[in-house]
Amino acid sequence: MHFDTCSQQNDDFGNYFHCYNCCIYGGEFKPLWPTTIVLDPGHGGIYPGAVHYNIREADVNLAVAHKLREKLIMLGAQVIMTRTGDNNLAPLGSSLTADLQARVDVARKSSADIFVSLHADSNSDIHMTGAAGYYPTGGSSNLARAIQTAIVIQTEAKDNGVHSANFYVLLHNKIPSALIEMGFLSNRSEASRLIDDTYQNLLADSICKGIISYFLFFATTTESICDS
Ligand SMILES: [Zn+2]
Repeated sequence: MHFDTCSQQNDDFGNYFHCYNCCIYGGEFKPLWPTTIVLDPGHGGIYPGAVHYNIREADVNLAVAHKLREKLIMLGAQVIMTRTGDNNLAPLGSSLTADLQARVDVARKSSADIFVSLHADSNSDIHMTGAAGYYPTGGSSNLARAIQTAIVIQTEAKDNGVHSANFYVLLHNKIPSALIEMGFLSNRSEASRLIDDTYQNLLADSICKGIISYFLFFATTTESICDS
């Protein structure tokens, strides 16, 4: 791989070395420059998602997304959020499908490189815990797998694997997409972790690392820069 032999290429502005160990832009470590990432905090507004112990999934998803956004920007990414507050995306009175399509439309209009949807899980079995990654049926698992691997390593959450799924935002996106279930709100101790600021930061940090891994190993745009 290119890690040991980074060719340290300059771009038009100089100082652009796209490699994990020496990816420097303007004197700072910017491994995600110049990517564009759509972050989709699942649910919101009239769609709270799972609700357990007075915790709304929509709020957890949004809190982690805000933290992740800051980290990604620090590392050089342009980040577009499908929502930044507790709101629906489609006008009131629209269908749930319209709300989901509005999330896909954000990616479609932005020429983004990847789409990452953040969720928290729920099950009637309150003992279930752990994180899982989903990728579109018939599509690539690389993005979901990179993020899932990083989450499991860094947070030590139970590894519930990476699976294909027919979720609307996965099936209808034209760019590499992943939906991440960060943990189970239906499990009391995992729910308390999911609303904890420190744990949310840990989750955001691990998802960020997973996204970096994805671009380094799988995305053709950055690979071609690194390998040239
Ligand atoms: Zn959800």
